[in-house]
Amino acid sequence: MGFAEALLSWFSEHGRDLPWRQTEDPYAIWVSEVMLQQTRAEVVLPYYERFLRAFPTVQALAQAPLDAVLRVWEGLGYYARARNLHRAARVIIRRGGRFPSDAMAWRELPGIGPYTAAALAAIVNGEDAIALDANLLRVGARLFGERQAVSQPEVRKRIARKLLELLPPGKAGMFNQALMDLGATVCLPRNPRCDSCPVREYCIANATGQQGAIPAHVAHKPRPHKQFVVAYIRDGQGRVLMIRQPARGVWGGMWTLPQAEAQSWREARPKLEAMTGGQLKRIPRRPSYTTAHTFTHFSATYTAFPALLFARSTRGRWVCPEQPNLPVPVPHRRILQALSRSP
Ligand code: SF4
Repeated sequence: MGFAEALLSWFSEHGRDLPWRQTEDPYAIWVSEVMLQQTRAEVVLPYYERFLRAFPTVQALAQAPLDAVLRVWEGLGYYARARNLHRAARVIIRRGGRFPSDAMAWRELPGIGPYTAAALAAIVNGEDAIALDANLLRVGARLFGERQAVSQPEVRKRIARKLLELLPPGKAGMFNQALMDLGATVCLPRNPRCDSCPVREYCIANATGQQGAIPAHVAHKPRPHKQFVVAYIRDGQGRVLMIRQPARGVWGGMWTLPQAEAQSWREARPKLEAMTGGQLKRIPRRPSYTTAHTFTHFSATYTAFPALLFARSTRGRWVCPEQPNLPVPVPHRRILQALSRSP
């Protein structure tokens, strides 16, 4: 049995049963690939179903207001993906509702990088392409005994080229998904299960006992840490002031409590006042609340202080803290829950 045959017959028996593999609808597959860009399949599952219930077609997505899209995405993180999906849906509708026909055309849509374009071209269009995600990189590096760090562009290109040589023409969708599943369930980052691997006889790392050393990693720089001060401002009716984040940035288009990167309330206050359009004062003896969040490139701590605003702000929106009915990122939702309970 050849490599591809061994891999594909293993996949037909052991491949993961994921809903986006049960459909040929390019819209549904596209949504799943965008969700899978930064997130594991198990986490994506409920969001995928919820998203397709809310926006069952590309028309429905294009017609929806951005706030509605962000609300359905809420909790999945990396909100630029939702904004780009929404923009791209409008592009597709403007072009007559036709989905791209190859990897180059997929890349023209907002939010589609080389990996996602290759995955969509392979799965939706049947193009012979390799979608080199972290799983394929690891499996490829081990199969070919690649000793150099896989972060190097020439190493990635080499692995992609060698995998492409193994791809049976016309079966790119299954081939890529089989390699992804092999990486996710058998060729694990630590302690790969080589005894159950359908392609072990082709694997140089297995033959030479180097599974632990491949892929080689370069030392990561420690993730920087940022500290934010957040103002929890209530009006006489118990509503809190929320501000819309600028379109760009990790939370672009989402709504948060007023926040400023700062080490202390004193340092943050002028920035928060500029944001809210009034004078701010901390409420004495009211406890603050601190929560942490980790992003891809940094970690962050948010400390929220109950505060009074001396002016009627026209800059944001006053909402009920228990039910803001706005897209709110997770750390701010935690703050709303914690502080709305305190007296
Ligand atoms: Fe990975 Fe082991 Fe299979 Fe090689 S034999 S591809 S190291 S699981």
